[in-house]
Amino acid sequence: MKRDLFDQNHDAFRATVREFVERSVLPQVEQHAADKQIPREVWLEAGKQGLLGLEIPEAYGGSGAGDFRFNAVVSEELAKVNAAIVSCWGIHSDVTAPYIVELGTEEQKQRWLPSVASGETWLAIGMTEASGGSDLAAIKTTAVRDGDEWVINGSKTFITNGYSADLVLTAVRTSPEKKARGITLFAIPTDAPGFSRGRKLDKAGQEESDTAELFFENLRLGDDHVIGEVDHGFIHMMQKLPQERLGSAISNVAHAKQILLETIAYTKERHAFGAAIGSFQHNKFLLADLVTRIEVAEAFIDKCIRAHTRGELSAVDAAKAKWWSSQTQNDVLDHCVQLHGGYGFMNEYRVARAWRDARVTKIWAGSNEIMKELIGRDLGL
Ligand SMILES: Cc1cc2nc3c(=O)[nH]c(=O)nc-3n(C[C@H](O)[C@H](O)[C@H](O)COP(=O)(O)OP(=O)(O)OC[C@H]3O[C@@H](n4cnc5c(N)ncnc54)[C@H](O)[C@@H]3O)c2cc1C
Repeated sequence: MKRDLFDQNHDAFRATVREFVERSVLPQVEQHAADKQIPREVWLEAGKQGLLGLEIPEAYGGSGAGDFRFNAVVSEELAKVNAAIVSCWGIHSDVTAPYIVELGTEEQKQRWLPSVASGETWLAIGMTEASGGSDLAAIKTTAVRDGDEWVINGSKTFITNGYSADLVLTAVRTSPEKKARGITLFAIPTDAPGFSRGRKLDKAGQEESDTAELFFENLRLGDDHVIGEVDHGFIHMMQKLPQERLGSAISNVAHAKQILLETIAYTKERHAFGAAIGSFQHNKFLLADLVTRIEVAEAFIDKCIRAHTRGELSAVDAAKAKWWSSQTQNDVLDHCVQLHGGYGFMNEYRVARAWRDARVTKIWAGSNEIMKELIGRDLGL
């Protein structure tokens, strides 16, 4: 089905992103997996080409596109490479940078945004703790006032870009008695005394992304590192989460679509019983089913992107897009593995890695159960 979301400006931008991917990403993807990290040179090159600062106004070194369809183009092209690179990029550009853009003081924007747009300052976001990620209001990392400073103690886990980040937007408890209304966001530089990281976590998929535990021990920061209002961090996060979930939904569908297209090609080439395996009625109907599922999911997400570009995407619709797309992605990729037979279980085949990489998308960015909880609440239940 022809999509009508993008115009010729987006198409031209897509060509630039593709060129960047072909030149600066694809030749090194195996190395990224071996290193469990995407090297800084990739991000610096993206910064040079003006691809990292879509959310950042021109005055601070970005392109201030103000049209989420451009972000969608980047996500789709990166998701075709693998699920890890699009996640690392998304956390930096589409998830974390907007907090500084929209909530930062003038001084903070001038201090950080130019190097965020160039890739010299790499970002992560630290919400989840070992004791739990779904119940954000229960976080235990604390910041206690001491004179003019805050003293931060605690830890975060499962943090994407955690190993490579220079600045971590971190949710911290500032008022113990106030639960959700006692959380503040801090921009924590990773060279601050008292900051340390654990090893790169050994994940079941997405080897290319550096995911880490972060520790804060008597880490001292001034008010100039508070992002937004003290004790309003939970509200700030709730306002920003729909964009994170939409970005996740875009990647989910683009990733599954790419692997499905490669699988269709495979079923035309692979023969059994003297015929292409795709020609057997069971497989033909299955592929018809999968293509339809992807296009229906894509149509809903395109509608969400349009709504978000107008500033009208609701948290509930973002939750629908997130859970549905991740479930669809996992269902589609499981069938893609099956259609590849034994090769589908071999790591040297993209389909096997894509299937493993996709699993986490039902867990992160708010688990699918939490998404359904939000949707259910909206139904008055
Ligand atoms: C690879 C990876 C990268 C990540 N990157 C980041 C990152 O960059 N920054 C960050 O802050 N976090 C990150 N996370 C953390 C992720 O967001 C959390 O894992 C997720 O929110 C779930 O939290 P949890 O793991 O503590 O599970 P829990 O909260 O312990 O949940 C366990 C299970 O219980 C279910 N559950 C919980 N509450 C309810 C309920 N009310 N109703 C029904 N079911 C419920 C959950 O859905 C889940 O199935 C990442 C995780 C992974 C695996």
